Parts: sequence; structure tokens; C-alpha cells
Amino acid sequence: MQFFRPSSLREALEIRAAHPEAVPIAGGTDLMVEVNFGRRRPEAFLDISRLPELREIRREGPNVRLGSGVPYARVIRELPDQVALAQASRTVGSPQIRTRGTVGGNLGTGSPAGDALPVLAAYDARVVLRSSTATRTLAWRDFLVGPKRTALAPDELIVATEWERAVGPGSFSKVGTRNAMVIAIAGLCLQLDEAARGVRVALGSVGPTILRAPEAETFAAGILDEVGAWSDRGARVPEEAIARFGELVSAAARPIDDVRGTGAYRRHACAVLATRALTWALDDRRAAAMEAAS
Ligand SMILES: Cc1cc2nc3c(=O)[nH]c(=O)nc-3n(C[C@H](O)[C@H](O)[C@H](O)COP(=O)(O)OP(=O)(O)OC[C@H]3O[C@@H](n4cnc5c(N)ncnc54)[C@H](O)[C@@H]3O)c2cc1C
Repeated sequence: MQFFRPSSLREALEIRAAHPEAVPIAGGTDLMVEVNFGRRRPEAFLDISRLPELREIRREGPNVRLGSGVPYARVIRELPDQVALAQASRTVGSPQIRTRGTVGGNLGTGSPAGDALPVLAAYDARVVLRSSTATRTLAWRDFLVGPKRTALAPDELIVATEWERAVGPGSFSKVGTRNAMVIAIAGLCLQLDEAARGVRVALGSVGPTILRAPEAETFAAGILDEVGAWSDRGARVPEEAIARFGELVSAAARPIDDVRGTGAYRRHACAVLATRALTWALDDRRAAAMEAAS
């Protein structure tokens, strides 16, 4: 087995072009499980874990660019204001996994249960891909094309993911069989966008890939408008409207029955996660309004 260890992105992309059979390895927390269980036997590895270009976090105005090789532990430390992403990162595996595992690897695997992915979807993130000859940027939904299927070409690497920071409360939550070290049975990210007066919701583990819930999003934004909550953060949203939002989010799921849970349970979990997430967001806004008034 060949093992390539480039020291720059340029060198890595040249190796990628010359040896498309070499499988990129970042933290190895997905890939080595596959190898150890005998499900994959790569002829060659391309170690991208030491490339400084992939380990950068950059902010320019409202834009955030997260290098694909940044591990979760750094996301938690260095991007605490990206609340939903930091929360999702905190739920990944154990401290060891969070020290090695990267958001780029979560994208590379493209599992519908990848915890960073609903957050990137709710952030309307883009995925930056580079080959030795070109760079392209895809919307998250054009990158995640199916269950563990992505639009990555054999000569490309995921370089970064980037998004425009939405101002407003956001959260990530998931349901599993225990509180830690668990693959989500259902996961949800909700992000309010105060400037656009929008509500964004993305779901994980309840469809072939990450799903947004557009009908629920339009409904929630409309209700906030109706009760005047976009201009008055203290305004109350009726309980029935929050429950209806949960139903609409649940209806957007396309779950299957599997070893982790039934489709019916997953739908129910989506409704619970959605009503909680919207309630938390509204509570946060009300608390901020009260603090501003005091
Ligand atoms: C014990 C344990 C617990 C876990 N818990 C969770 C959890 O709670 N939530 C969760 O979402 N995941 C979990 N995982 C899965 C895993 O940790 C994550 O998916 C992590 O984000 C993978 O990142 P990595 O850097 O280790 O990827 P790797 O294993 O190195 O790579 C994964 C895939 O992506 C490709 N790849 C990686 N980086 C790039 C790149 N820059 N360009 C192109 N292709 C690339 C690789 O070729 C490979 O196919 C867990 C894994 C273990 C072993």
C-alpha cells in the first residue's frame, strides 16, 4: 500500500491528479473504521491532515470560511459565535474523535447522519472544491447528492466550506439512544435570519441526504410576521403555531425504518426537535429584548 504525505495543498492536488486511486485521509475517523471492518481496502492513501491551507479559519465581514481540515475541537474553541455549528461539533463522538475528525471529512463521507451537515444546510453554506487545474464552489445541496454520495470529482479535494453569518439565534439538536457517542436517529438545525426575516430548518438522519423544510420555514416566518415578532422580539407566538411548525417540519422528513429507529419515530422526533428549537430561539430573542430594555 502506498502512503502519500504531501506538505502543501499544491503538492497534494498534483498527487491527486496523478493517483486518483489514492484515498484522501484527514482525521481518519470515518475512513479507518471502513478499513478496519474490511469494507474498504484502498491501494493508496493521500494524507491531507497536515496541509496548512486546509486548517485555516477565516472571517471577512459577515463571511466565514472554514478549512476542510479544521477538527471539531477547534470549531468549538474558535467559532463559538457560530452557535449551531459549535453545538453540533460538541455532540460528535468523544474528545478523541473531536480532536481528529474534521468538518471536511463529514462532508467527504456525505452521510445523512453527519452532524455538521444540517448546520451547513441551514447556513446555506457552499463547498469549495479544488483540483490541480481549477476551483469550483457548489451550494451544499449540489454537493450532497445522495446517501453517502457527493459531487466530489476524483481529482478534487474539499478545500473549505463558507457561509454568510446569519444574525439571529440558532441551535443544533439530535435524538439518539444516549447522550454521547451516538449516531443521530434524527438531527435538526434551526437558524433565524433577522435581517432577511427568515427561518431556516435542516434535518439530518431522516432522509437519503440532508433535507430543508421549506414549507415549515415559510410558515414560521409568516407567523413571526403576523404577531409582529420580527420588529418586537418580545412578541408572543401562539403555542398552536409552534405545534403546527413542528408538524410541517415532520412532514418534510423522508425517513426509513432501520436498526436505529422506525420512520414513524423519526417523524415524531422531528416534530419534537423542531418545536423545541423554535421555542428556544423565541426565548433567546425575548431574553435579549428584555436585557436591551433594562
Ligand atoms: C467513535 C466514533 C464516533 C463518531 N461520532 C460521530 C458523531 O457523533 N457525529 C458525526 O457526524 N460523526 C461521527 N463520527 C464519524 C466521523 O468522526 C465524522 O464523520 C468526521 O467528521 C470524519 O472526519 P475525518 O476527518 O475523520 O474524515 P476521514 O475519515 O479522514 O475521511 C472521511 C471521508 O471523507 C474523505 N475526505 C476527508 N477529507 C477530505 C477532503 N478535504 N477532500 C476530499 N475528501 C475528503 C475521505 O477520503 C473519506 O472518504 C464518529 C466516528 C467514530 C469512529
